[in-house]
Amino acid sequence: MRQLASIQRIRKLEPIAGADAIVKASVLGWDVVVKKGEFQAGDLCVYCEIDSLLPDKPAFAFLQAYGMRIRTVRLRGQISQGICFPLSVLPDGVEPVEGKEVTEALGVRKYEPPMPANLAGIAKGPFPAWFPKTDETRVQILQDRLDAFHGKACYVTEKLDGSSATYYWRDSEFGVCSRNLELLPDPKNSLWKFAEKTELAKKLSALDRDIALQGEIVGEGIQGNKYGIKGQTVYFFNAFDIQNYSYLGFQEFQALLSTMGLESVPVLERNYALTNKIAELVQLSIGKSVLKPVRREGLVIRPLEEQRDAAGRVSFKVINPEFLLKYE
Ligand code: ATP
Ligand code: MN
Repeated sequence: MRQLASIQRIRKLEPIAGADAIVKASVLGWDVVVKKGEFQAGDLCVYCEIDSLLPDKPAFAFLQAYGMRIRTVRLRGQISQGICFPLSVLPDGVEPVEGKEVTEALGVRKYEPPMPANLAGIAKGPFPAWFPKTDETRVQILQDRLDAFHGKACYVTEKLDGSSATYYWRDSEFGVCSRNLELLPDPKNSLWKFAEKTELAKKLSALDRDIALQGEIVGEGIQGNKYGIKGQTVYFFNAFDIQNYSYLGFQEFQALLSTMGLESVPVLERNYALTNKIAELVQLSIGKSVLKPVRREGLVIRPLEEQRDAAGRVSFKVINPEFLLKYE
């Protein structure tokens, strides 16, 4: 779960060219514009990430015009992600300890984009427990992981802005899931339509193993169809071995997709030595989509050999800040 609001230290403050009333603060791996003089380097603050929905209280009244949601903005040319509030916004009795989560204490909720009708479908039940939901952590909170994996051989894929799709074969049964639910068969549902069109159940059954394939469905009626796709299609990013409860490594995954005649999310790098500099990775994320020359949403980076650490699977996303500026 994302820690939307937490107590964080302002590591450093730097001037912004051409601006005298505001400065750039570094908090975790984020750049945040703050008022000059409001904080000193080393101060603790209440940091709220982008996508935080703040409660309608006087201290947050300035967000009313933005539906109480914190978004990516550009101020005097400087990208700013998240907001630093003074510790005085904390309710009485909440001790300001660095790193402590205060999402609930502050009444912060997460903004969730609505699911388009063609994908929502009819729920068969909750998301199955045989494999994880799809998710990627933001690089800005992963400095320790980057230090631990500095120089490791990774692959980089384009992060596509669609909706999550999971197809599985388990105990001779085929299933289709959206982001958070398993769906009943439905000829009008875009996830099911893709399965029918590609004869996915048949292809999965032929593999003779219990497996889940996860990808991003993109196209008409989904996130404004940024890639200009006719109809809808799925680009895959995970294969999960249900019996072993583990993901297939990059090579095996790519080989499996070609055997099945399915498409991978665009692979941008097959042997990338991971840097531990967040700013460098954010710079790398800025660019155009491979599918169409529009701003890409970002990158997903993983070691070529599957790895796990205390935070879980080693895999993370780097969102292109220019994409957020344009589409949020
Ligand atoms: P957050 O947790 O940051 O609030 P979120 O959980 O809605 O946001 P997304 O920003 O949508 O997550 O990022 C994770 C999702 O990205 C995955 O669940 C998957 O559906 C999608 N995705 C798109 N392209 C890729 C890719 N190349 N590799 C992995 N996942 C991808
Ligand atoms: Mn998430």
